[in-house]
Amino acid sequence: MGEAVHKVVILGSGPAGLTAAIYAARANLAPLVVEGGDVSSKTDLPGGQLMLTTEVENFPGFPEGIMGPELMERFRKQAERFGAQFVPGRAVSANVRERPFTLELHDTMQDTRTTLRCHALIVATGASAKYLGIEPERRLLGHGVTTCATCDGAFFRGKQVVVVGGGDSAMEEANFLTRYASKVYVVHRREGFRASKIMLERAQNNPKVEFKLNRTVKDIVGGERYLDAVVLEGTGPDAGKEERLEIGPAGGLFVAIGHSPNGEIFAGQLDMHDTGYLKTLDGTSRTSVEGVFAGGDIHDSHYRQAITASGAGCKAAIDAERWLEAQGL
Ligand SMILES: Cc1cc2nc3c(=O)[nH]c(=O)nc-3n(C[C@H](O)[C@H](O)[C@H](O)COP(=O)(O)OP(=O)(O)OC[C@H]3O[C@@H](n4cnc5c(N)ncnc54)[C@H](O)[C@@H]3O)c2cc1C
Repeated sequence: MGEAVHKVVILGSGPAGLTAAIYAARANLAPLVVEGGDVSSKTDLPGGQLMLTTEVENFPGFPEGIMGPELMERFRKQAERFGAQFVPGRAVSANVRERPFTLELHDTMQDTRTTLRCHALIVATGASAKYLGIEPERRLLGHGVTTCATCDGAFFRGKQVVVVGGGDSAMEEANFLTRYASKVYVVHRREGFRASKIMLERAQNNPKVEFKLNRTVKDIVGGERYLDAVVLEGTGPDAGKEERLEIGPAGGLFVAIGHSPNGEIFAGQLDMHDTGYLKTLDGTSRTSVEGVFAGGDIHDSHYRQAITASGAGCKAAIDAERWLEAQGL
């Protein structure tokens, strides 16, 4: 595998990567998918972010809903059916300055390293939500704890929820959640906000929203599959204060403290926004380097949905196929 030059390598096996794999495989490009995932991380898995959730209710074609991991298993089977191949591990370095492109992979399970070469590269490495890093958070992900109000807000009809964060995303999530929740607490570690004035005022003027400032979430209280309260710890002028905020029965904790796009191996090689999201050109999946295409949450900080990531993966595969053809490859 190390010696051959692959026509197309796809980095990442979330909705974008696997949709790109289905299209590239059906176009006879024999794509090789680098699965990603990292055993040292509890939130970075082959299959991407949907592996962290339970019920997905908004992916078309599943009127009864489908569990996130099962949906990704189906994506993968569909790609395999047309001949996509998979290799475990993640790319730890890339050279897209010279052709063919070179990638160094690290399989964190076996702790082995390999090198791959390819003519076209599809970057579908997604973005990782930032987490609070407290113990029950990972266990309760998809069971009361989430990072996506658009995805999971509707599960909290008539319930009380907490949104953590002080940026535009947190304010947007708080406002959005008032459509379902009976009460929305916004917990923010400072008194100042990164959020724009207009977004902040909208939340402040919403009678269902209550702010808990100079507070962080110290602990989550609940059972195996639900949460009933969060323990808040004071910061700054309120340091040393502790408060238990009851949001049961079965309330929600929306962690909205940002996302990190997984594109660091391309720093200095592909054009990126200041936030680290890859730039794509003219509504296509083309990046600043010919032959490198991007799709999904790695270049889209706005929509962040499985269906939009899939659409972007499809675009990337079609763009890659046409580019390879134009190169006579
Ligand atoms: C808790 C939660 C619930 C959600 N619920 C919904 C929902 O109900 N409906 C919905 O539409 N969306 C939902 N989303 C959002 C949705 O999961 C994402 O928008 C979507 O998964 C993005 O797809 P992607 O393929 O771009 O990236 P991801 O799903 O993030 O996949 C990226 C993949 O790339 C891999 N990778 C990263 N770095 C490298 C590297 N260097 N080399 C190789 N591989 C790498 C990762 O391991 C991962 O497998 C949810 C997200 C979360 C976190």
